[in-house]
Amino acid sequence: PYVLGIETSCDETAAAIVSADKRVLAHRVLSQIDDHAEFGGVVPEIAARQHISHLDKLLESLMKDAGLGFDDMDAVAATTGPGLVGGLMVGVMTAKAISAATGKPFIAVNHLAGHALTVRLVDDISFPYLLLLVSGGHCQILSVTGVGAFTRLGTTIDDAAGEAFDKTAKLLGLGYPGGPAVEAAAREGDPKRFRLPKPMVGKPGCNFSFSGLKTAVRRLAEECAEGEGILTIRDRNDICAAFQQALGDCLIDRLKNAIQLFRETAGNGNFPLVVAGGVAANAHLRGRIEALADKEGLRFSAPPLALCTDNGAMIAWAGLERFREDPAINDADEAPRPRWPLDDAAKPMVGKGK
Ligand code: ATP
Ligand code: MG
Ligand code: FE
Repeated sequence: PYVLGIETSCDETAAAIVSADKRVLAHRVLSQIDDHAEFGGVVPEIAARQHISHLDKLLESLMKDAGLGFDDMDAVAATTGPGLVGGLMVGVMTAKAISAATGKPFIAVNHLAGHALTVRLVDDISFPYLLLLVSGGHCQILSVTGVGAFTRLGTTIDDAAGEAFDKTAKLLGLGYPGGPAVEAAAREGDPKRFRLPKPMVGKPGCNFSFSGLKTAVRRLAEECAEGEGILTIRDRNDICAAFQQALGDCLIDRLKNAIQLFRETAGNGNFPLVVAGGVAANAHLRGRIEALADKEGLRFSAPPLALCTDNGAMIAWAGLERFREDPAINDADEAPRPRWPLDDAAKPMVGKGK
C-alpha cells in the first residue's frame, strides 16, 4: 500500500508518500524559518497562514515527483496533534478533502508517534524498544511495545531539550532555530572551561529538568560579557560546548536508569535503544547515546538527520503502520487536538472527542 502523509503542526509544511515496503516515493519539506526568524520563535498566526498558502502547491509537486495521483493512495494521513491548532486544521482539512474525493480512509496521526515510529521506516527495528524522544516541545523516555503502545518512563518537568537549545541560542544571539547553531558553536568550543549544572543527575527515576541549565547559561553569559564588555566568540563557543556537554550528561544519566528499568520490566536484556526527534540530529548527542548503547550491549538506531526534524515521511509512515494493523481504519470524525499525549495514542480514537 501507499500512504500520503501531511505535516503542518508547527513551522514546517511537509508531505511525503511512503510504501509498505519502506520506500519513500516522494518527500518535500518547506521550512518557514525565514518567516519567523525576525520574531525569534514561531508565530502561530503566521505559521497557519503560510501552511494555507503553500500546502496545495507542495502536494501538487509531491505527486508529480512520485508520478502518482491521489487515487493511487491507499490512505491519507495527517498530523492531528499535538501542535499549533491553526496549522493542524490546515493539514487535517486538506487530508480529509483528499480522503473524501478519493474514498480512501483518513488517518489521524499523533505527531510524537510519527517521531517514535520513523526508525522502523529506515531500519529493521521490532518491538519492544526503548526510545529517547528529544524534540522542540518534548523530552521523554518511552517504552514502545507496539504501533500505538507507548508507556512513558520519564519526561521533563520544565523545558524540552530542543527548547533548551533554542533558548540558549537566543540568549547568546545565535538566532532561531537554535539547535544547529549551538551545535556548530560547540564544535569550536572547549567543553571543560566552564562547568554548568546537571539537573536531576544522580537522582532516581527518568525525569528531566533543563530550566536550571538555561538560567546558568544566562548568568555565565552575563559574567563573561561583564569582564570584557562583550561576549567574545570564544566565550560563546565555550558556553555552547559546556551547555551541550551538560545536557548530554543529563540525557545519558536518565537513560542509564531507563535501561535498567526496561531490563527489569521487559524481562529481556536485549532490546534496541532508539533516539528520535529534532535534537536527535545533534551529532555529539547521537554519538554519546550510541556509545552508551555499545557499553550496555544494546543495538543503537536513529533516523537519518533529515527524518529527525519534522517531515512528512514520519507522518505517512505512522499512518501506514496503523493502516497495516487495521485496514478498516477511518478517523474521519477526528478533530485536531492541540494537546495529545503519546500515552493516549494507544486508546481508540474515533468518537473519543476532545
Ligand atoms: P515536537 O516534535 O515536540 O512537537 P517540534 O516538532 O517543533 O516539537 P522537532 O522538529 O522535532 O520539534 O525538532 C525541532 C527542535 O530540534 C528544535 O528545538 C531545534 O533547535 C532542535 N534541533 C534541530 N537540530 C538540532 C541539532 N543539530 N542539535 C540540537 N538540537 C537540534
Ligand atoms: Mg520546526
Ligand atoms: Fe516534531
